Amino acid sequence: MLRVIEQDTEKLIEKIIENYPEKTKKERKKHLIYNDPECTSSICQIKSNVKSRPGVMTSRGCAYAGSKGVVWGPIKDMIHISHGPVGCGQYSWWSRRNYYTGKTGINAFGAMHITSDFQENDIVFGGDKKLEQLCREIREIFPLAKGISIQCECPVGLIGDDIESVARKMTKELGIPVIPVRCEGFRGISQSLGHHIANDSIRDWVLGKVKGILEKETPYDVLILGDYNIGGEAWSSRKILEEMGLRVIAQIPGDCTLNELTNMPRPKLILVHCYRSTNYIARYLEENFGIPWMEYNFFGPTKIYESMRKIAKRFDDKIVEQTERVIERYKPLMDSVIEQYRPRLEGKRVMLYVGGLRPRHIVGAYEDLGMVVVATGYEFAHRDDYERTYPELPKNSLIYDDPPHYELENFADALKPDLVGSGIKEKYVYHKMGIPFRQMHSWDYSGPYHGFDGFPVFARDMDMAVNNPSWKLIRRKGR
Ligand code: SF4
Repeated sequence: MLRVIEQDTEKLIEKIIENYPEKTKKERKKHLIYNDPECTSSICQIKSNVKSRPGVMTSRGCAYAGSKGVVWGPIKDMIHISHGPVGCGQYSWWSRRNYYTGKTGINAFGAMHITSDFQENDIVFGGDKKLEQLCREIREIFPLAKGISIQCECPVGLIGDDIESVARKMTKELGIPVIPVRCEGFRGISQSLGHHIANDSIRDWVLGKVKGILEKETPYDVLILGDYNIGGEAWSSRKILEEMGLRVIAQIPGDCTLNELTNMPRPKLILVHCYRSTNYIARYLEENFGIPWMEYNFFGPTKIYESMRKIAKRFDDKIVEQTERVIERYKPLMDSVIEQYRPRLEGKRVMLYVGGLRPRHIVGAYEDLGMVVVATGYEFAHRDDYERTYPELPKNSLIYDDPPHYELENFADALKPDLVGSGIKEKYVYHKMGIPFRQMHSWDYSGPYHGFDGFPVFARDMDMAVNNPSWKLIRRKGR
């Protein structure tokens, strides 16, 4: 069914970009479209994955954020060195809620900040010697760490340090894998290249190099790839897969060990939640080990049922039947959540702006509650993400790529959403505009939102934001 929303998005785009200087106007126009779900016309061709214009206040991060912050950081039994000056490691210190179990400082290190804290001397004379010394100290102070990764910050690549040779030397000397990651922030144009670099470093420095253990294999072995366990969501996803009769041999990278990384070539099927950040390694595993992979979506009951059935079909009748039984068991709970919250949220308009997956993946969960996503967009998506996005949204919804804050604020002013879902840098602006807001990176310190455990939390949180009495105390512009 083709869903259409009543808004003249084309006109709105023209109006907002009118205020830009000519060159910026021409450029930004290519990053803004009104949606055509069937994607038959050229308006679908949004421009993406290109450099941000200087000085427009992009929300994007850098390759270091994509590698250390997103992909490597959650591997819990390794120490990840923020290699360079003190800033990057400090600001990314446990700011992403990739939950894990373990004893922090003893056998898990996710909530710690380890840095080589570059001084002027290190820039002038190079930091390789310091890095070696740091690796030795780490081995001594944290003897249970299973490995070390070196996450490069900007200066390391500029001064020509040879971290690869340090990594080789230290791997031999210390007897644990030391992995160099060339994720300096100036590489690429956003977090996205950091994902790619991190995927490649797993390929080159872990697979086939680090010995892992998986005692036995079963025909039902699967691997969760690209779930960061924000607020525990990989756990709530894993639970569903296990109830379906599958065996999850690794969840990568949320709450993941180095050993789990080594199991990447062992499952019968790879289940990809975040396509953007992990499709590189998934393709590599398919091409080199013949392991199939598929995307799935565990946001909201409609998508969960659909994904469970799609996954079950890859196995035998036993799994298909068991999957139906699991759906039957959870459906009354999901229906009761919808019954409770849908009347409170029906018809509410949502505007989203997140990273590389959620701007399309979470749309179904809002629709389960009767809400309509009138605008969405990504910080660092590529063309293949947008192609997956068009069919998920109603005709005429607004889609933006890497929008500066000026655009977002003015779109919000014009579209008058009942809820904005975005990041911490946006949150307080919308609060002050009197628009209910939920953080859709950190789940506003709530969650999980994935799976059957997640949907009731998601519904409660959206209701709590949209229908909060405090909004009545703020004079909302134009309302
Ligand atoms: S751009 Fe460079 S200096 Fe800035 S956070 Fe990223 S790695 Fe650090």
